[in-house]
Amino acid sequence: MQSAISVRNVSKTYEEGAGNVPALQGIDLDVVPGEVILLMGPSGSGKTTLLSIMGCILRASSGSVRVAGIETADLSEKELPAVRLQHIGFIFQGFNLFPTLTVGENVELALDLKSVRGSKAKQEARGLLDVVELGQKYDTFPSDLSGGQKQRVAVARALAGSPSVILADEPTAALDGRTGRTVMQTMHNLAHKHGRAVVVVTHDSRVLEFGDRIVHMEDGRIVPGHEESPIPKIPPHAVLPAAISAVYEAQVEQL
Ligand code: ADP
Ligand code: MG
Repeated sequence: MQSAISVRNVSKTYEEGAGNVPALQGIDLDVVPGEVILLMGPSGSGKTTLLSIMGCILRASSGSVRVAGIETADLSEKELPAVRLQHIGFIFQGFNLFPTLTVGENVELALDLKSVRGSKAKQEARGLLDVVELGQKYDTFPSDLSGGQKQRVAVARALAGSPSVILADEPTAALDGRTGRTVMQTMHNLAHKHGRAVVVVTHDSRVLEFGDRIVHMEDGRIVPGHEESPIPKIPPHAVLPAAISAVYEAQVEQL
């Protein structure tokens, strides 16, 4: 099976005034459709840097990053964002919602970037918000949401335009246990039922059961021997309540 993302011998050095910071060294990683990778490791180990490079938000200093078969190292600064828009849904560590736009408009904006506009955008935005149980908050402003609700808007936004890869930076960090599990069940279903490739950076041991593979990082490298950690499997819909599940199914059919 072709990898959704293929990373080969990638290194990244941040150039700082005081000197260079080596953030990644010699990373190899394949992300395939239908699996959830949990990217774990201590703070500063390079998780966000690697996720950003895979998401075409940041360039590697050296090495190869192929997204949907496209070698991103060969792309110009103008071409790179188009690959991100077409193939990647990114959930940032902060929520990155626009405070002056309503919840619905935040999702509509993400759809607009993918050329879905007007009444179709409204309908799709509402559907994506239903997936994360926030359909009723369409006209609410982000400042009136809890942290967990903001994160769920960020998840809905990442699903806009049906990207083949979902990358999430600590998506459950601000969530209570139940909400965190709902978000992770959504990630799990996107991979297992709809063939998306999913990478989740997490410190949260509560979400381990939703992953297929743990990739453990330390000091900018992948720790050998940790790549294939066995994770107990959950049956489908073990966590997602039936009512949400039905809405989810209806919406994701359209993804
Ligand atoms: P993690 O997400 O695992 O906490 P990061 O990828 O954020 O790790 O950071 C890896 C290393 O790169 C750390 O030493 C961090 O201080 C450094 N770093 C991250 N972003 C920048 C930046 N924009 N400029 C300089 N150094 C950075
Ligand atoms: Mg980080």
